[in-house]
Amino acid sequence: MQHVAVVGGGIVGLAVAHELAAERGVSVTVLEKETGWAAHQTGHNSGVVHAGLYYKPGSHKAWMAVAGSRSMVRFARDNGVPVEVCGKLVVATEPEELPRLQVLAERAEANGVPAKRIDAAEAREYEPEVNCLAALRVETTGIVDYGAVCRALVRRLGDLGAELRAGTEVLGIRGRDGRVELATPDGVVRADALVNCAGLQSDRVARLAGLNPAARIVPFRGEYYELRPERRHLVRGLIYPVPDPSLPFLGVHLTRMIDGSVHAGPNAVLALRREGYRWRDVSARDLVEVARFPGSWRLARKYARTGVDEVLRSFSKQRFANSLARLVPAVRRDDLVRAEAGVRAQAMLPDGSLVDDFLFEMAPRQVHVLNAPSPAATASLEIARHVADRVVDQL
Ligand SMILES: Cc1cc2nc3c(=O)[nH]c(=O)nc-3n(C[C@H](O)[C@H](O)[C@H](O)COP(=O)(O)OP(=O)(O)OC[C@H]3O[C@@H](n4cnc5c(N)ncnc54)[C@H](O)[C@@H]3O)c2cc1C
Repeated sequence: MQHVAVVGGGIVGLAVAHELAAERGVSVTVLEKETGWAAHQTGHNSGVVHAGLYYKPGSHKAWMAVAGSRSMVRFARDNGVPVEVCGKLVVATEPEELPRLQVLAERAEANGVPAKRIDAAEAREYEPEVNCLAALRVETTGIVDYGAVCRALVRRLGDLGAELRAGTEVLGIRGRDGRVELATPDGVVRADALVNCAGLQSDRVARLAGLNPAARIVPFRGEYYELRPERRHLVRGLIYPVPDPSLPFLGVHLTRMIDGSVHAGPNAVLALRREGYRWRDVSARDLVEVARFPGSWRLARKYARTGVDEVLRSFSKQRFANSLARLVPAVRRDDLVRAEAGVRAQAMLPDGSLVDDFLFEMAPRQVHVLNAPSPAATASLEIARHVADRVVDQL
């Protein structure tokens, strides 16, 4: 039986391992450097099953999110993971956002996502406290706990006889005698192929394996607040602003989580460490790497104004509350309590552009997932099928 080593025990790595073990008859070892699964992006996100309306038609993101929203809900239901298809509103609060709302409606249609344009009174039937001029209602958006999805994947992998090695960092990779060898603190793991799903470290793991990918990972921290329990009634489901097409993220939104809490965020500030969840988490190595990469300076120039606004909002709860009050005017500063932050792994090219789509790179006996930002949790089971096809080609 062929054997594949998967680096990274976030949702993408676990989904790939599951696809290989359950559907392709391959034996797998998953190597995760942290002592628990889903320790980074997968365990620190908004928990939204995206419908697929935002993404460029024909892109991996578009078709994998649309298919993934269905496969994720099915997987959760089949495995006893709580999931709710609650729908969402994208709201235009300023007249200049109305044409962008229309563009979004057209994009949704091109991607095959049912989205209905509604007026302010109709929007308030879904969300009585919302402020808007018009909105898009998307019924197929859902909520789930991706940590719980990972626990289900781990259970199934265990039943399939996979070797699950948390607390095992991959430190070196080389090809030998037509196989791949991965050096870990506990010895060498040998496999017929390797899949790199290392998220925030994916470019480094690719370099360990001898590749020289053009793109580098830039870590963007997303900070969250949550509404005090007694103010949760202000939000029934998911309320998003119309995204600014010149920016890579969706803008701070209000999200009901599957446990009933309501999260507000995330903003986007450059993290001073790849896995840096607070301002005081700083890594000299990570900062030097960012400073030496020409794309960083180009990116900084391009987004200087937005970057400053995001940093100011990071330090000012009042500014954060003001952004949320655009969507739901009843939200006040005192309603907000700090919640855990997350760090997004976003690939950037030397010209400073951010890689928009999911990015995969292949080498003999290797498949690397080099850009898997949102909606990769939603799309993880589809990414897994795509990657497994590439792996089988390599074996
Ligand atoms: C703030 C935020 C909000 C988001 N909201 C959503 C959302 O609502 N919906 C959605 O679909 N997506 C969302 N996303 C995106 C989604 O969380 C990610 O796309 C997804 O979790 C990526 O999964 P992953 O497995 O690639 O990465 P990760 O979950 O980061 O996993 C990578 C793993 O690799 C391990 N690793 C790294 N290097 C090594 C090594 N050398 N050896 C062994 N292990 C290693 C890490 O420890 C880590 O556990 C959000 C992300 C963030 C940060």
